[in-house]
Amino acid sequence: MTISREDCLARDVADPLAFARARFIVPHDLIYLDGNSLGALPATAPARLADVVSREWGEDLIRSWNKNDWIGLPARLGARIAPLIGAGANEVIVADSTSVNLFKLAAAAVRARAPRRVIVSEIGNFPTDLYVLQGLEDLLGGAIELRMVPRCALMDALDDSVALIALTHIHYKTGEIHDMAAIDDRAHAVGALVLWDLSHSAGAVELHLDRDGADLAIGCGYKYLNGGPGAPAFLFVARALQPELHQPLSGWMGHDAPFDFSDRYRPAEGIARHLCGTPVVLGMAALEEGLKTFDGIRMGDIESKSAALGDLFLSLVAERCSDAGFIVSCPPSGERRGSQVALRHPEGYAIMQALIASGVIGDFRAPDVIRFGFAPLYTRYVDVWDANHRLAEIVAQRTWQQDRFRIRAAVT
Ligand SMILES: *Cc1c(COP(=O)(O)O)cnc(C)c1O
Repeated sequence: MTISREDCLARDVADPLAFARARFIVPHDLIYLDGNSLGALPATAPARLADVVSREWGEDLIRSWNKNDWIGLPARLGARIAPLIGAGANEVIVADSTSVNLFKLAAAAVRARAPRRVIVSEIGNFPTDLYVLQGLEDLLGGAIELRMVPRCALMDALDDSVALIALTHIHYKTGEIHDMAAIDDRAHAVGALVLWDLSHSAGAVELHLDRDGADLAIGCGYKYLNGGPGAPAFLFVARALQPELHQPLSGWMGHDAPFDFSDRYRPAEGIARHLCGTPVVLGMAALEEGLKTFDGIRMGDIESKSAALGDLFLSLVAERCSDAGFIVSCPPSGERRGSQVALRHPEGYAIMQALIASGVIGDFRAPDVIRFGFAPLYTRYVDVWDANHRLAEIVAQRTWQQDRFRIRAAVT
C-alpha cells in the first residue's frame, strides 16, 4: 500500500512530540534533515545570548561569575544532560570539545588500568576518535597500543591485556547501534573499562548509562542537543570510578579549590576534576537553551519517533526510488538504528547537492554515503514525505547531472 502525504499529515497530528517543534526556529521553506550534524536554533537562544552579552557581560562584567552563576555552568548543564542519558546528576559535566574529552578520559582510563596496555577501538569509528587515540599512543610511546579491529571482532578482541575499549555507540555513517549493556558486561568480565562516544546518541535515543554499567562517556553538544555551532561537549564518569580516575589536563578549574591559588594541583573530589580551564560562557549559555528544548520530553518518545521517521523514509525510498541505484547502508529496522538513515550511491555527492538546492538539507560522507538525520523534536512526518518526494524527482529527472552539483566545498 502506498504511503500518501495525507497519511503523514495524520501521523503529525497524532505525534506526542508535535508540540516541541515550536521550541525551534526552522526556516519555513527548508526541510532540515541534518540535526545530526548541527541541531536547529532553539527559539529562546537569540534572546538569551543577547542578554548574556549585553547585560551579563556588558553591565555585570566580572561580577557575573557569581551574580549570574557563570562558574556553575559546567555542572548545571551536566545536571540537565544526565537524565537524557540515564546518568546521575553528579556523573556528568560540560567542558571542552568531544575530541578533548576523549583524550582526557582515555588517558585517565589507561592510567587507572596500568599495566594493561591495550586500547581497543573499531575500524571505521569516527575519525577524531581514532586520531585522538593514535595521538595518545604516540605520546605514551610504546606504553600503550591501540588495536583497531572490525566491528564483528570486537568481542573477541577483549582479553586481560585490554585497559579500555572506546566505541561510538551509534555509528556516524551507518547509524548502527552497539549493544551497550552487552559490551559493558563483556569488558568488565575481562577487567577492562569502556568509553562510549554518545555524539549521535544523546538526544536521539533513550540511554541508560547507569543501568547498562557504562564506565565513561563523552558526547557532542551541537548535534541532537541543539547547543549551536561548536557548542561545548559533555563527559560522564560513573560515580564508583570517580575517585580513581585522574585526567592529564589538570587545569585550575579541575582543582579542588581553584581560588586558593596554591602551587600544588589537587583534583576536585567528584566529576569537577575533569574540567580543565575557564568555561566557554557564551557557548554554554546557548547550550543551556538547547537543553531546555528537552524539558518535559520523555526519552522513550524520542526513541520511538526517531525509529518511525527513519522507517518511513526507508519505506518511501523502497516505494519511489527503487530503480535509482541506492543501496541502503543502515540497519533496515528502527530498533537497531539511531535517528538517521544512510544510502549509498556512486553519485551520492551530486545527488545531495541537487537535493540541497531544492531545499532539502541532508549531508554527504565520503566516499558515497548520503545521510539524513531526523531530529525528533522538530522533524515532522510530512517533512520526510516531502524530502523523499524531491529525492525521487531528482533521481527520475537526473537533475544531479548538472556540473554545478559536482563542485566540492570544504565541508561536505
Ligand atoms: C560529531 C562527532 C564528534 C565531534 O567531535 P568535536 O571534538 O566536537 O569535533 C566526535 N565523535 C563523534 C562520533 C561525532 O559524531
